[in-house]
Amino acid sequence: MNGFLAAGHVCTIMGMEEYLPLVQKHHVPVVVTGFEPLDILQGITMCVRQLEEGRAEVENQYERSVRAEGNRTAREMIREVFEVIPRTWRGIGPIPHSGLGLRPPYADLDAERRFQVERVGGREAPECRSGLVLQGLLKPPDCPAFGRRCTPESPLGATMVSSEGACAAYYRYRRFEEPWPTPTSR
Ligand code: SF4
Repeated sequence: MNGFLAAGHVCTIMGMEEYLPLVQKHHVPVVVTGFEPLDILQGITMCVRQLEEGRAEVENQYERSVRAEGNRTAREMIREVFEVIPRTWRGIGPIPHSGLGLRPPYADLDAERRFQVERVGGREAPECRSGLVLQGLLKPPDCPAFGRRCTPESPLGATMVSSEGACAAYYRYRRFEEPWPTPTSR
């Protein structure tokens, strides 16, 4: 059984409506959650409660910041400046309708065109499995390079670069817990 905690800062702008079709299609709970430890605990509790009760809904734990409709003014500004375009995601590849690009009236502000770097893209090391990590199909310690050839000081992939990346977070908080449980013993 799966459920998702949705990022509260994104939903503060975008609201919660875009999760509704996903929840209905895949029948998974989504709880919009804040970032303090108690927010996370409450978000997990709400998510588990939905799973136990067989519900799949979009719920809002982060009520002090998020409204269902989001920030209408900010959304209007985003719509005026950006349009939905296909994007290539590091470790995953191209996904249609997954990114934002500047609309034609703002093209002269587009760094890709201005500095002629349209063809420059992020490329992971061949042994990096961050695409699987990002999709929740592999835990970072199960990557053979984790903590050995790949560390925050010498990252092989995007998920080890940012402090918010799953590999970097595992490295920071759980790297001393080896040996890691095998997938079957979890
Ligand atoms: S540990 Fe490093 S090499 Fe392995 S998936 Fe994460 S970023 Fe990629």
